[in-house]
Amino acid sequence: MSYDVEKPDEQWRAELTPAEYQVLRQAGTEPAFRGEYTDTTTKGVYSCRACGAELFTSTEKFESHCGWPSFYDPKDSDAVELIEDRSHGMVRTEVRCARCGSHLGHVFEGEGYPTPTDQRYCINSISLRLTPES
Ligand SMILES: [Zn+2]
Repeated sequence: MSYDVEKPDEQWRAELTPAEYQVLRQAGTEPAFRGEYTDTTTKGVYSCRACGAELFTSTEKFESHCGWPSFYDPKDSDAVELIEDRSHGMVRTEVRCARCGSHLGHVFEGEGYPTPTDQRYCINSISLRLTPES
């Protein structure tokens, strides 16, 4: 898989903070309930913190009480890439930015949330940057 935005690892390391690098480029997870956008209800667009691609909007954000920003759908279905993740003894679906391949979080299905899709895109705040609607 090749991405529109590809950079050598040293460049990502130089451009991102150590915490951003750990989540975006090493598929880390920020601690629950600590991310800056967990409870944010500001209207706007959430972009990839690594490459700036528009990924999610406040319209699809919902209160999941899981500790991370949760969306029931991406802004556009081709904005994200879904990959089977068998790490940590679980089968999960990893969500990556389709433009640069950076790790965003995971998507879960069929949990019974009252949303139009019954999907929960569980995304690290540190992978996103919110641009408030003007
Ligand atoms: Zn990206």
